[in-house]
Amino acid sequence: MIISNNVSAKDLNSFSVDVNVKTLIEIESLDDLDRLELTEPFKVLGGGSNILLTSDLNQPLLVIKLTGITVVKNANEYTLVKVGAGENWHSFVEWTLRHDLGGIENLSLIPGKCGAAPMQNIGAYGVEIKDVLHAVYAYDIQQKRHVVLHHSECGFAYRSSYFKNKWKDRYIITAIVLRLSNSGHHKIHTHYGAIQSKLNENKIDKPSIQDVSRAVIAIRRDKLPDPKLLPNAGSFFKNPVVSSHKMEELKESFPDIVHYPHEGMFKLAAAWLIDQAGWRGYRNEKAVGTHKNQALVIVNEGHAHGSDIYALAKEIMTSVASKFGIQLEPEVNIWN
Ligand code: FAD
Ligand code: NAP
Repeated sequence: MIISNNVSAKDLNSFSVDVNVKTLIEIESLDDLDRLELTEPFKVLGGGSNILLTSDLNQPLLVIKLTGITVVKNANEYTLVKVGAGENWHSFVEWTLRHDLGGIENLSLIPGKCGAAPMQNIGAYGVEIKDVLHAVYAYDIQQKRHVVLHHSECGFAYRSSYFKNKWKDRYIITAIVLRLSNSGHHKIHTHYGAIQSKLNENKIDKPSIQDVSRAVIAIRRDKLPDPKLLPNAGSFFKNPVVSSHKMEELKESFPDIVHYPHEGMFKLAAAWLIDQAGWRGYRNEKAVGTHKNQALVIVNEGHAHGSDIYALAKEIMTSVASKFGIQLEPEVNIWN
């Protein structure tokens, strides 16, 4: 365990917000968790790609650095792999591709650490981690003991899980176990977004999991800003889900509205709503704005405070609510 005091958070979050972290505690082993004697509330950090820091952090900040990739079971059709919470997510995806294990190729190039992946049930291009997640190893802060939570207990839903709501601040995730398909048993998902057209462009008609990953990486590199060059936290808001009744009303006023059937309701593309409200590519005097290719991504082009970024997010929410009667909800975790 390494403890440091008064550390700048600038390199710890993908918005590059510079606040002071009073106490930073790097967790390097499971024993470190047993040894922790915290009497006050604290925060847990992975790669910092889904948080917005709006003020100095006076609570201790635990950075989870537990690493390691282990094959737990090798069955005929699938392999169970356990990966430490501190492993980089995309490096782990690359590891699975090198071992020809399928299931997370559509989730290539998502920033962050493996331990955060169950938090919001990361998803992209028609795949969510819940589709392959077998179990979560965690430290229960209330009961001060290590537990294993099965997939079915974790309340996974669209960009959500119990870790984000009902169990907020209760568990420190230490490792996850994924059930990945073995060679000859892969299920390829290419129907979503631009994957199929990218494969067509490259004249690939029978894509492997590695081809799908390459297509996803190429699309993401074209469209999304690299946080190292233009700080951001990915989609700032969740895509709203509305009833059929609300959908009919919206279609009458906005016949082109982008929408998809979603579990008996309709999912709207928040990016389209924000774009139509006039915000795509916008910059304010603090150099905070939205990305020119994807209005759902709020960017910090200068040296804005977290509160400046949050202020723009609230302006966008008000504007979308007044145009469409829809309340956007942040997907990014706001820490204040
Ligand atoms: P952090 O930002 O460090 O933490 C996020 C939350 O999880 C916090 O509440 C934190 O307290 C908690 N947490 C982190 N680690 C642990 C742990 N070990 N135990 C308990 N709690 C923990 N997300 C998607 O779903 N799909 C995408 O396609 C996607 N694309 C993105 C693209 C870009 C350019 C960016 C910047 C972000 C994108 N994201 C996407 C959002 C983000 O990358 C994911 O949510 C990612 O899983 C966050 O990981 P992290 O380690 O950075 O989490
Ligand atoms: P896109 O392909 O331009 O699509 C825009 C929106 O339409 C997405 O939000 C997506 O919903 C939805 N969509 C597209 N095709 C769909 C289909 N066949 N069925 C149902 N919904 C469909 O989106 P993008 O911005 O380039 O992102 C591509 C993927 O990466 C998306 O899955 C997106 O969620 C993910 N991504 C997530 C983040 C993040 O921070 N959370 C950041 C960047 C990209 P979904 O979002 O529900 O998939």
